[in-house]
Amino acid sequence: MNKTSRVVSDELMEIQRDYGRRVRGIYAMKMDRQPMAYTQTFGCQQNEADTELIRGMLAEMGFGFCDCIEQADIVIVNTCAIRDHAEQRVYGNVGELSHAKKNNPELVTVLCGCMAQQAHVAERIKNSYPYVDIVFGTHALARFPEILYTCVSSHRRVFDLTGDEQGCILEGIEPVRKEGHRAWLSIMYGCNNFCSYCVVPYVRGRERSRTPEAVIAEFKKLLDQGYKDITLLGQNVNSYGSDLEDGCDFPTLLERINAIPGDFRVRFMTSHPKDATKRLFDVMANCEKICNSIHLPVQAGNDRVLREMNRRYTSARYLELVEYARSVMPDLTITSDIIVGFPGETNEEFQDTLRLLEQVRFDSLFTFIFSPRRGTKAWDMPDVLTKEEKQRNFEQLLEVQNRISKEINDTYVGRRLRVLVGEEENDRSYNNEYTKQSRTEGFKLVYLRGAEGLEGQFVDAVIEKSSTWALFGRAVTETER
Ligand code: SF4
Repeated sequence: MNKTSRVVSDELMEIQRDYGRRVRGIYAMKMDRQPMAYTQTFGCQQNEADTELIRGMLAEMGFGFCDCIEQADIVIVNTCAIRDHAEQRVYGNVGELSHAKKNNPELVTVLCGCMAQQAHVAERIKNSYPYVDIVFGTHALARFPEILYTCVSSHRRVFDLTGDEQGCILEGIEPVRKEGHRAWLSIMYGCNNFCSYCVVPYVRGRERSRTPEAVIAEFKKLLDQGYKDITLLGQNVNSYGSDLEDGCDFPTLLERINAIPGDFRVRFMTSHPKDATKRLFDVMANCEKICNSIHLPVQAGNDRVLREMNRRYTSARYLELVEYARSVMPDLTITSDIIVGFPGETNEEFQDTLRLLEQVRFDSLFTFIFSPRRGTKAWDMPDVLTKEEKQRNFEQLLEVQNRISKEINDTYVGRRLRVLVGEEENDRSYNNEYTKQSRTEGFKLVYLRGAEGLEGQFVDAVIEKSSTWALFGRAVTETER
């Protein structure tokens, strides 16, 4: 497929800009100050990146941004559908919008994102949450200015789940990012994999890659803006380029980015193990600006369960990949996702997951108890374990992983590492002398002492202590350098 067909046409973008100008005009007539927007994001980094695009559209329409609902003229809640827990949190937060709306009847309340793309959710919002003015799904993102204009010009609620279900690519909008030194950059959208538990392919459409030229142009812009640690985003970055005609695959894109002059780091997520190749690991090993760090979601250690999940690799294949990656990058950090209690998983099969943890020794894990998602294949698959058994397995998993994480972190004590100092302070009540947060190439969190005034800089740090979740160190002084 020719990828350019997926880019939203200049004509449609111009129409949307025109709607944006009309929205700006309406607010200019209504108020003698700049209208303010408040955005709230649930879920993954892709959603964060979408919110940054929405903020970009809002900025073009004349909005400024505020940090609380009370000061806002429009509230955007960008939702996540990946687990029931995330959905319930959204419903809880949407409830709060009713107070805001009572205090400010002019407030425009908007729900968008993956959860909003589902018809049953939109229906529930329509019927039970009358103070929500706009619901639009991921497929309608490009038409947000038009949707907002319809609402504010006619004072009626708008529900729009239409749009290209295959998905599109939005170019030409300047995302409004959070300040700091780390940024997300979407290189592709959508997913073709249909893992049996996952709703993403249904709400985000098919895989579509931005051109390498568009990615590199945005990357350079980020460097000019002072970002130094940039994460390339996609549901499965390893299939980047499969829809492009110029033959640029993901390792090639990494090489091209690595060749950009400057002092920066590049990381990426997420990598599907079925598409991870030796070439990817070789490129990571050979390109000094590409972090030796990978998030490689394995999900389970049992081959029958992996088959039922439609993951299309075996645990042996996964171990082979990790072994090769470590052979070319001995310092590689690896994180992963594990789902506990997938329908049909037995206690014996769960033991294979624990065995895999011991074999791989992940740096850390994102762990979840299976949450059925309507419309997916696993939605009504029968369970063999009780809720209590799943909970017990989950706790056992955490126990094993926490021990491994602590053992790995202990090996860092005494080492000297290059870290990027962040803006964030240490908000924990212990080890208070380590005031600054920083990140290693492997994305390990290092609380630093002696790093005041070094925000946004790469510095060397000597690691003095470790815990399960973090390292503690001191910034190397000038005389030691
Ligand atoms: S690869 Fe699987 S888990 Fe990841 S987004 Fe696609 S369907 Fe979901």
